[in-house]
Amino acid sequence: MSLAAMLGDIINGLLHKPATQLYPFERPKTAERFRSLLAWDGECCTGCRLCVKDCPTGALELTTIDQKAKRFVMGYRVDLCIFCGQCVASCPFDCLKMTTNQWELASLNREPFTNLFGTEEDKAIALARSSEENTKETDNA
Ligand code: SF4
Ligand code: SF4
Repeated sequence: MSLAAMLGDIINGLLHKPATQLYPFERPKTAERFRSLLAWDGECCTGCRLCVKDCPTGALELTTIDQKAKRFVMGYRVDLCIFCGQCVASCPFDCLKMTTNQWELASLNREPFTNLFGTEEDKAIALARSSEENTKETDNA
């Protein structure tokens, strides 16, 4: 390569933005219909469980705290979710949606892969029930 061509390349490189993405300093914009983490709106949930029944991987679990008061806790296993969007399509009340920007899911431990949606009080009740059930199962084993 001649010195002139090399200088041309250097000047060209200095004048133009890099072709590569600057992630993680700049997060790439995802497509409008990109499917990342699931979001649940407890305000409109009736507890019909259609989403739970239709999920092909068993990633959803609904705990009823008080049916009359429409108090539910939705358990969402991110490690089981295949981001198919079936639960979103199945919900008759549009309570579920796939977010488009929560896709950085790598983790060194398992905690971030089990999400509970609901109020803090209801989540505490659901966790206490689940722990009671686990204890009973262990005692019966
Ligand atoms: S997106 Fe698919 S796999 Fe994930 S929770 Fe919904 S139905 Fe289940
Ligand atoms: S399908 Fe919708 S309304 Fe029914 S339990 Fe799931 S989130 Fe709630």
